[in-house]
This record gives sequence, structure tokens and C-alpha cells, in this order.
Amino acid sequence: VRVEAEVPMDERENIAGVSVSSAAREIFESPVLTKGDLARYYDAISPAMLQEVADRPLSLLRLPEGMAGERFFQKHPGKGFPDAIRTVEIADKSGTTEPYAYVTNAAGLVSAVQMGTVEFHIWGARRDRLDRPDRMVFDLDPDEGLGFGDVKAAATDLRDRLRELGLESWAMLSGGKGIHLVVPLRRTVGWDTVKLFSRSVATLLEQTEPARFIAEMSKAKRKGRIFVDWLRNERGATAIAPFSVRARPGAPVAAPVAWDELSSFSKASEIGTRRAIERGWDGIDRPGPQSLNSLVVERLDKAMNG
Ligand code: ATP
Ligand code: MN
Ligand code: MN
Repeated sequence: VRVEAEVPMDERENIAGVSVSSAAREIFESPVLTKGDLARYYDAISPAMLQEVADRPLSLLRLPEGMAGERFFQKHPGKGFPDAIRTVEIADKSGTTEPYAYVTNAAGLVSAVQMGTVEFHIWGARRDRLDRPDRMVFDLDPDEGLGFGDVKAAATDLRDRLRELGLESWAMLSGGKGIHLVVPLRRTVGWDTVKLFSRSVATLLEQTEPARFIAEMSKAKRKGRIFVDWLRNERGATAIAPFSVRARPGAPVAAPVAWDELSSFSKASEIGTRRAIERGWDGIDRPGPQSLNSLVVERLDKAMNG
């Protein structure tokens, strides 16, 4: 008779210097991913992930009991958060200051997993200049019933539109239903400008092709169209971080992809943790920071008003 070795549920594992409790707890059931597996994933992906995530205020989506249990977004680090999850005090419009979490290293990512984090959401600005966004995000949200082919076509069309304005972008499968386009920005303008600019680009798409695009969030009005979600470009708004695991069935990853490989994907949740680690940023051409300068604004104005 063989006796199975029992793994005590409170077993701790040291990962990236962090003591991870209940490492054997199942967070995802298919594929099976334990809390320890998640911690090891974020440790392994950290060199790639931190390139975009380090030093940004974070919102954490925590599922301490895994996919079957409760989930909640956490904007402000709580008491008992490990030191590797650092805090920056940020004042809101009324002047009230609140602490926000940020990380700088693998131990920070793994510490967040220790606190039950599955998803990392990032601000569009870094903590040294919170009033100057360094990325503009377009989050393509298809109406239910639209195929991924429609989303891919929307992504390349938006890429081309931006290119006509003089802006290069990179793409990311969201791990959910859509694709995000990211335009790296020089930190020369504030949130209001980036918000207005991105809203105008979304409006331009709707003006040009109202049967395909809508610039308004309303789900009722979406009807077979893709919402070009520009609302990620507000102070305090977040978007899913590149290489974050998504708390969705199958544990998909928000995965950056090269423009020339986009056509090969059949859904936004196609890349899992193993492939994400193999891929990293390989083959993905991230443009350098670009300016929303008067030339770009003039081109946009011309495209909208003729
Ligand atoms: P999908 O491709 O399925 O749309 P997504 O990550 O783009 O996946 P959205 O619902 O479009 O999901 O949300 C875009 C971003 O807005 C999220 O990644 C998240 O950062 C932010 N967000 C959405 N809902 C919330 C929420 N309830 N609390 C905090 N942030 C949120
Ligand atoms: Mn989306
Ligand atoms: Mn959205």
C-alpha cells in the first residue's frame, strides 16, 4: 500500500525572497495553477513585466480564495502589506492624500501574490511625475457577438489612423475579449490633453465608420460595434498591465504581440503563462516615447474637420 505524501495547505515556499503562504492552494482549476505557481510565474516574468509596471501606481485585483471565491479591486495598500509593496501618497482633486501601491522588483510582484493578487492594473504615469502620463491606451471593447476578426481589424485600422497622425503604437491581447493599443508618450503634456486627444481619436473613428466604432461607453448603444475605450487615459484610471494573468477561466495572460503576428491569434485569451514566459518582449517592437505636439494635434484636427 502506497501512502500519498500530504502537502499541508499552510506550507510556505520562498519565492523571490518572499515567504509565500498556502503555496499549494489552487487558484485556477484548469489549467491547475496554485498560489505558488502564480508566484513563480510573476517571478519568472518580472524582468519583462517590470519594464512597464515598475514605479507606477497599481490597482490589485485580489482573489485570496482563488477563482471560486470572492474578488475585489484594491487601490490602496492595506495594513499588513509586505514592505516590497511600496507606497506613494497621492493627492486627489480635493487635496486629500491617499496611499497607492507600487512595486520596483520581483519581490514586490510576488508579495502582491502573497496578498492574493491575480491581476495587476497600472496607471498611465510613473510616480516621479504623476501629472505627466507616459502612455496613452486605447482599449478596444467589442460588443458581444462580434468575432475576434473584427477586433483585430479594428486594432490594425486604429494603428494606421494613429500612424497617419504621426504616432506609432504597440498591441496587447487583453487576455479577455479585446485588444489594447499603447502609444508611449514623452512626458510633455498633462492628463487633460491626453484624455481629450484620445477621446478625439475615438470620435474620429466613430465619425468615419459609425457602423463599426463607437466612442461612448454605453453598452445599450454599442450594438454590433466596438467601443474605443479612451477612458483609460484619465488621472487615476488604470489598464491591465502587460503580462498580468487575468482572473478569467483558463488563466490567460495580457500579452503584448507584434503587429505582424496579430493575424495568427484567434482570441484575446490565447496566451497562457508558459507561453508568456517563453515570449517575453521577443519580436515586439515598442516605439519610443512620442510627443502629442502641435503637429500631431493639427493632423487630428484636419482629419476630423477636413
Ligand atoms: P477585455 O478585453 O475583456 O475588455 P479589459 O482588461 O480591457 O478586458 P475592461 O472592462 O475593458 O477589461 O477594463 C479596462 C480596464 O479598466 C481594466 O483593465 C481595469 O484596469 C479598468 N477597470 C475596469 N473595471 C474596473 C473596476 N471595477 N475597478 C477598477 N478598474 C477597473
Ligand atoms: Mn477592454
Ligand atoms: Mn474598457
